[in-house]
Amino acid sequence: MKAAFLGLGAIGRPMAARLAARTRLTVWNRTHARAEAFAAQFGAEDAATPREAAEGADVVVTCLPTSVDVERLLEGTDGLEAGLASGSLMLDCTSGDPATSRRLASRLAQRGVLFADCPVSGGTSGAESGTLTVMVGGDEATFARARPVLEAFGSRIEHMGPVGAGHAMKAVNNALLAVNLEAFGEGFAALVKAGVPARKAVEVLNASSGRSFVSEALVPDRVLTGRWPQTFRLALLEKDVGIALGVLDETGVRGPVLHLVGELLRRARAVLGDAADHVEAIRLIERDAGVEIRG
Ligand code: NDP
Repeated sequence: MKAAFLGLGAIGRPMAARLAARTRLTVWNRTHARAEAFAAQFGAEDAATPREAAEGADVVVTCLPTSVDVERLLEGTDGLEAGLASGSLMLDCTSGDPATSRRLASRLAQRGVLFADCPVSGGTSGAESGTLTVMVGGDEATFARARPVLEAFGSRIEHMGPVGAGHAMKAVNNALLAVNLEAFGEGFAALVKAGVPARKAVEVLNASSGRSFVSEALVPDRVLTGRWPQTFRLALLEKDVGIALGVLDETGVRGPVLHLVGELLRRARAVLGDAADHVEAIRLIERDAGVEIRG
């Protein structure tokens, strides 16, 4: 099998590295120097254009910020679509939006190219260790072809439904992550101001019913330590909440909580900038409250 991977960002790069260990791989990245460095390190080929990356590939994996970026990648004489052969498979690991992916899938189907949305969860560390959860949207036959490829970086690979269902699942997951970040920050800023020791409060929460991935994993590693590593941009989480709100709209579900969290993240993104990490939403709450959650 010959594969191509396009988008060597924070999570794409370690995913592509795991694919390179299993199969012949060509990589493309908007900033070409990153593709060159990757190719040299992992024994892959680097392509000058998306078209060149796709040519001769049985499967093409994309991982860009948004579905709109992926759609644009297809355009033009040097675009991805020009290089995709009939019978090949395109797997989009972007946390994208269902409507754009449905449009992409029907466009590619006219050229005989199969498409599935395959967003991932588990962060950059999950990508490095090959333990990502992969949420797949596509038909059964496409899922069956996709699974062995996705196993390069995923340990839980689930078929969620037709094209777009993977994106919908991922967006709702990340909306809940955002809710937990904001709610944790507010509650714990208050607890610390009330004189409760932060570490003890986190330990008690994690033995109680309000715990979450935020309190069990992110807070002990990043907030209590004041470490704030950059692994997943706040701007991308804000984008995900927007996609989740689109899913609610499409299905006629009111979403007062998620609308409010979307607003809060928009504000955090405006204040902290596009490079800030998602956990820094808590830092902004700390700043507003005049307190630090450390211990
Ligand atoms: P990054 O911002 O780290 O990287 C983005 C990548 O996309 C880079 O390779 C960048 O190229 C490229 N890119 C950006 N804009 C364009 C464009 N218009 N055209 C072509 N290439 C472009 O993002 P992540 O790797 O963190 O995220 C990628 C996707 O994965 C997102 O949808 C995100 O929500 C999702 N995700 C991220 C997780 C994480 O922990 N980081 C976890 C789960 C999902 P260049 O090098 O030139 O900047």
